[in-house]
Amino acid sequence: MTFAKRHLLGIEPLSPDEIRTLLDVSDQYVDLNRSDRKSGQALAGKTQINMFFENSTRTQASFEIAGLRLGAHVMNMAMQASSIKKGETLIDTALTLNAMHPDLLVVRHPQSGAVNLLAEKVNCAVLNAGDGRHEHPTQALLDALTIRRAKGRLHRLTIAICGDIAHSRVARSNILLLGKMENRVRLVGPPTLIPSGAADWGVEVTDDMSAGLADADVVMMLRLQKERMDGGFIPSEREYYHRFGLDPAKLRAAKPDAIVMHPGPMNRGVEIDGTLADDINRSVIQEQVEMGVAVRMAAMDLLARNVAAEAEGVMV
Ligand code: ASP
Repeated sequence: MTFAKRHLLGIEPLSPDEIRTLLDVSDQYVDLNRSDRKSGQALAGKTQINMFFENSTRTQASFEIAGLRLGAHVMNMAMQASSIKKGETLIDTALTLNAMHPDLLVVRHPQSGAVNLLAEKVNCAVLNAGDGRHEHPTQALLDALTIRRAKGRLHRLTIAICGDIAHSRVARSNILLLGKMENRVRLVGPPTLIPSGAADWGVEVTDDMSAGLADADVVMMLRLQKERMDGGFIPSEREYYHRFGLDPAKLRAAKPDAIVMHPGPMNRGVEIDGTLADDINRSVIQEQVEMGVAVRMAAMDLLARNVAAEAEGVMV
């Protein structure tokens, strides 16, 4: 088994073997979660603190359930009401929490790089639950697990990632992971929502949905991240849906067995047709949510093992 990390800050530092290890352990947790007992002991006696400086529904709930199922004491900090509002810096908050000896810190922050900075200041394992437009590693891992289970492999697939690439940490982490596993990745969206320099990432880029989806095995839709837009990136939502919203007609360009993904939260009728999103023959959106809990259990389990091994003086 290969996973020699103390923190999970992004996909960028992970090797293909480490990604495979995380997914293999996740598969075991999918089985546990589907069983009646649903509980493990891997984090028994450990303290997990969730610090979400940005709103979150599924990611925070998923990390909380993952910790509870593995026996951790889980605390959700109400960051909106925290001392950060009184002027304390992120680092001071982190040092204060660090002095209370948590074992796992799960952090979401609106600024890219904030979670890496925090990880340098604390002794416990840090998991990035999304930082600005930078990375969202557990999302990319849960997407990879969903794809691997649906397609039976995670290499030599054609994957179209569509929509607001420019503001999306989900897209960035997925591009890194799918590239490391030797897939063909296409970015599809209006030029205003494709970052300049994307063509150097080893991906194909197009603003034409039928060309982008042609023969795709996987169609991954992204939310329009309006909270990160400060100008007119799209003419109107109606026009955007007309050109880039996924509906059954546009999906016909993809392989007949192509799966449809969305990280949530979804804007129905903006990025994706609501009926298609609910079509259990095409959409794996609910599986993504299910895989999220298993991936987070696996990540916290593996990090906790590494921290314990380090404390005993074993090199990780
Ligand atoms: N939930 C994902 C994220 O936190 C995707 C999104 O918000 O659109 O980045």
